[in-house]
Amino acid sequence: MGTLSSAAVAAKKSSLTPKAIISQKFGSKASYKVDEVEESFPNECPGLAIRQKGRCLYRCHLQLPELSVVSGTFTRKKDAEQAAAEKAIEMLGIHVKENNPTEEEARDELVDRLAYLFSSEFLSSGHPLSGHFRAVLKTKGHLNGCIPISVMAMYDAKLTNLCKHINPEVESNPLGITSIILSAAEKLSGSLLPLEDHLSLKRQSPHPPDVLQSVENCESTLPESFEIQAIRIPSSVNETIETLVLNLSSASYYLDVIAEALGVTEASRVQVSRTIGKASSEVRLYFCPKQQLLDQSLEPLEVHRVQLQGSLNVRASYFAGQEVYGDGILASVGYVWKSANLFHEDMSMRTYYRLLINKIPSGVYKLSREAIFVAELPMVFTTRSNWRGFFPREILYTFCRQHRLAEPVFCIPNSSLGTSTDPHGTCKKLKVTEPSEEGKKSPVLAAGGGGESDGLTGDFKCEVKIFSKCQDLILQFLSTKAYKKQTDAVQNAALKVLLWLNLFFRESNISSEKLSSHAKELGIQFYSEYFLKEFNICPLVHDFWMSFATVEDGLLDRKHMKANDDMLENVVFSLNMGGQASGVNPSSGSLVCIGYTSCLVTEGGMKEHLESNEEFEFEMGIGAVVPYIEGIVTQLSVGQSACFGAELPPLEFILAAADDSPTTISLLSSGKCSLEHTITLLRVTEPLEDRMEQALFSPPLSKQRVEYALQHIQESHALSMIDFGCGSGSLLDSLLDYPTSLEKIVGVDISQKSLARAAKMLHSKLNSKLDYKVSSNRIKSAVLYDGSITNFDSRLCGFDIGTCLEVIEHIEEQEASLFGDVVLSSFCPRILIISTPNYEYNVILQKSAPQNQEEDPDEKNQSQAYKFRNHDHKFEWTRAQFCDWATDLSRRHNYSVEFSGVGGVGDVEPGFASQIAVFRSKEENPKNVEIAHHCKVIWEWSEGDRSKSAL
Ligand code: SAH
Ligand code: MG
Repeated sequence: MGTLSSAAVAAKKSSLTPKAIISQKFGSKASYKVDEVEESFPNECPGLAIRQKGRCLYRCHLQLPELSVVSGTFTRKKDAEQAAAEKAIEMLGIHVKENNPTEEEARDELVDRLAYLFSSEFLSSGHPLSGHFRAVLKTKGHLNGCIPISVMAMYDAKLTNLCKHINPEVESNPLGITSIILSAAEKLSGSLLPLEDHLSLKRQSPHPPDVLQSVENCESTLPESFEIQAIRIPSSVNETIETLVLNLSSASYYLDVIAEALGVTEASRVQVSRTIGKASSEVRLYFCPKQQLLDQSLEPLEVHRVQLQGSLNVRASYFAGQEVYGDGILASVGYVWKSANLFHEDMSMRTYYRLLINKIPSGVYKLSREAIFVAELPMVFTTRSNWRGFFPREILYTFCRQHRLAEPVFCIPNSSLGTSTDPHGTCKKLKVTEPSEEGKKSPVLAAGGGGESDGLTGDFKCEVKIFSKCQDLILQFLSTKAYKKQTDAVQNAALKVLLWLNLFFRESNISSEKLSSHAKELGIQFYSEYFLKEFNICPLVHDFWMSFATVEDGLLDRKHMKANDDMLENVVFSLNMGGQASGVNPSSGSLVCIGYTSCLVTEGGMKEHLESNEEFEFEMGIGAVVPYIEGIVTQLSVGQSACFGAELPPLEFILAAADDSPTTISLLSSGKCSLEHTITLLRVTEPLEDRMEQALFSPPLSKQRVEYALQHIQESHALSMIDFGCGSGSLLDSLLDYPTSLEKIVGVDISQKSLARAAKMLHSKLNSKLDYKVSSNRIKSAVLYDGSITNFDSRLCGFDIGTCLEVIEHIEEQEASLFGDVVLSSFCPRILIISTPNYEYNVILQKSAPQNQEEDPDEKNQSQAYKFRNHDHKFEWTRAQFCDWATDLSRRHNYSVEFSGVGGVGDVEPGFASQIAVFRSKEENPKNVEIAHHCKVIWEWSEGDRSKSAL
C-alpha cells in the first residue's frame, strides 16, 4: 500500500535485469537452456574416492545469434539465467544506457507493442493475453473484438512496464495506465479504435477470414456451459464474505460474466488484480472502480484523489495489494501460457481463509504443517533434522512476496577468523554458490567446521534485511549468536524476523513503542515510518488476534510457558487422561509424535470435525506447538491420550480449517462454543546424544574424549595412530591442532558420508601452510579407509596407538566382541583406547531432562528401547559389563587393561558418563601378518602433496 516515491521507482527502473536487456535486444532469438548439475568438489579434496552427492545446481547456456555463453553454477535457475545474460552483455559490449529509454522512446515502444498485440500473429502466440483476444472475437454484438484496456494492462507485463516508465505514479494507481495506453492508441488511430466509454480498444478492420477461421477451429475442450464457485468480498467490513456461482460458457467471455456479477454490463469496467497467493496461481480479485474515476478528463493524480473519497474495501485491498473500492470478487480463473483452455477452479470459504492466514508468518507455518490448531512457528531452529514444515527462510520469502516487498536479503558477514577477501564490503550475499561455500571456508573454520559437535563456538552469523518494493530499508537483523553451521545462522535469523512480524499481526493496535521494545529484545532494527507505510492496512484485516491470547506474556517467552500450570488451567478445561502410563515421557529436545483430532463443540453437545492428523511430529521445548498443547503433552506418557476443551481460536483459523463452512458458521452463531482436542502420544524420540552431551558437560563430552586420547598419544610418543570408527574425523581433526610425535594417521569407518567429511577436513588442514599449528606437526601420511573394523585387513596392523571412541555400542554386541578379538589378536596396536557410554550414568542424563523426574525405576526396564542415548546404539553397558568384557579380552590376548572415563567423577556413583578402557600390549615384537585387503582406500595424503598444492 501507500504511494511510492517516484524518484525511487525511476532509480530502480533504470537498472533493468540482464535478461530484460537481452530480451529487448534479441527478443525470441535469445534462447536459454538450463542444465542441472550436481555440485562437485573438484578443488576441495583431490583424490577422494567417494562420489560426492552435491546439491543440485543450475547452469545456463544462452544462445544468441552472435554468440553463445555459459553461466557459472547457481542454486537457483533464475540466477543462472541472469548470470548468462550478464556475461553476454559484457561480451557484446552492450551499453546499459540504451536500455533506459527516454519518455519519448518509451511512448514509441508502447505504440509498437500495442500494434503487435492487435496483430493476427499475436492471436496464436500462446501468451495468456491472446486467450482474451480470442475470446472476445467469439462474443456477439457491438463488443465483438473489444479488449478491455484494464485487461491488457494486467496481462502484458511489457505494456505495464512501459507505462510505469512513462509515469511511475501508475505503480500505485493502475487506473492511470488506461490513459497512457489510450494516448498511445491515438497514434494508431488508423488501425485501432477506442470504444465510446474509452475503456476498451478494438481493431478498425477485422482479422483476415483465415485467421478468424483458425480461431474458430482451435476449439477448447471446455463444456458448453459450466459453473465455478467464487468469493464475494463486500466493501463493508461488517458484511460477511460469501460464496457466489459464476455461470461460464465456452461461447462467452468470462470477464463479461464477472462484470455482471459485479453489477455492471461490460467487461471493460472491471479491474483485474495481480495474482494472489502462490506466484503460479490464477487467483485474482475483480472489482469495478466508481464511474467517475473512469472519467477520461481526469489526470492520474486527480483520479487518485477521487478514489480516496470512496469507501475503501479494506479486505479486498489487502489481497490485491492496491486500493479497491466497492465489492470485490475473488476467483480462480484465467488464460494461462500456451493453453487453449480457460483455466478455472472453485474457490471455497476455506480457500479464502487459507489465503488470509497465509499472509501471517505463523499462518504460513501452520498451513505448511497442515495443523492449524496445533502447530506454531517455533522459537528457535535447533537442527535441520528436527525441523518440520517450511523452513524459516522459505517462509520469509513467501511473506515478502505476499506483501509485495522486495526479496529478503541474507548476508553472512565475514568470519571473524577470516581475512577480509571481499573488497566490496564485509558481507557475502548468499545467492551465488561458487564451487562450495563451505569448502572455501574450511581452512579458517576447520576447528569449528565439519558439523561435528566439538563444543567450539561457531563462526557463522547472519544478517537479514527487508526492503520495500521501492528499496526502502524496512528492517534489519544481525544474529548476536555465532552458529557452527551456516544454515543454522540463516534459519535462525529468518526466524527472529518472522517472530517479530508475527507480533505485529497478533495485536492489531500494538503501539510503536511496544513494537520497538520487542524488536530490541530480539535484536531487530526497524524503520517505523517505512514499516507502517507498508503494513498499515494489515491490522484492519487481521484484527482477530485479540480474542486469543494477550501478547504481553505471549509470544516472546512461549517456550517458558510449558511448565506454567496456571496458564494451562486458564485455557484448558475438562481434561481427561486415559491409557496405561508407560513411563516414557517427552522432555525438552525430544522429538514427539502425536495423533490428534480437533472439533468444534457447542454447549448443547453438537460436534463438528475441524482438523486431524494421524501422525504429527514436533520437537519439544521450542514452542513448535500451541503452548497448552505442549503443556498437555508433557503430562502424557507414550500410549496415553488426553481429551480436553480449549478456548476458541480466532474465527479465521476455524474457517481456514473447516470443510463445511456453512455448518461451522451456524454452530458458531448458535451460542458458546469451544474447541475439543483429543491427543494421543504415539512416540517419543530422545534428544540426540550429541546435544545432550553438549548441554550437560563443559567442555562437551566429545571434546573431553578427544582430549583424553590426545593425552595418551602425547605421553606414548606414538609415531603412528589408527582411529577405528573415525566418523567425520573429529579426533583426527583435533590432533592436528596440537604438536605430537605422530607421523602417520589412519581412520577407518563404514559411513561414506562421514568419511567424505573427514577427508575434506583433513585435506584442507594438511595442505594449509598458513596455520602454524598445522605446519608444526610432523604428519607424513594420512589415509582414510572404508571398511568394517570387524574384518581383518593387514593395513590396519601394527600401529603404536589405536582409538575406538563411542563406536562399539553402534555394532551388535556379538560383533563388538568379535572386534575386540580381531583388534587385539591381529591389529595389535601397542596401546588401544576404547570408550563407550556408561549405561548407569543415563539416570543422570534423563533426570536432568525436566519432565522425567518422578520416574518409577520399575517402569524403566519395560521401555529399554528408549533408554539408550542414541537410536543407533545397539547396547549400552554398565561399568561391570564393560569391565568383564575388557578384562576377559585383555587376558586372552596378553594385554593389560586400565579403566577410567570422562564426564562426571569416576569414584562417585554412577561413575563416568563415558567409560574408557586403555589396553597395553605386553608383547614387544610385532607379529607377522598375512597380507589381506578388504578395506577401500577412500582418500590418501602424503607430505609431498602439500608442497604440490603449494605450487
Ligand atoms: N569415533 C567418532 C565417531 C563415533 S560414532 C567420534 O568419536 O566422534 C560411531 C561411528 O562408528 C560411526 O561413524 C559409524 O559409521 C561407525 N561404525 C559403526 N559400525 C562400524 C563398523 N562395523 N566398522 C567401522 N565403523 C563403524
Ligand atoms: Mg554413540
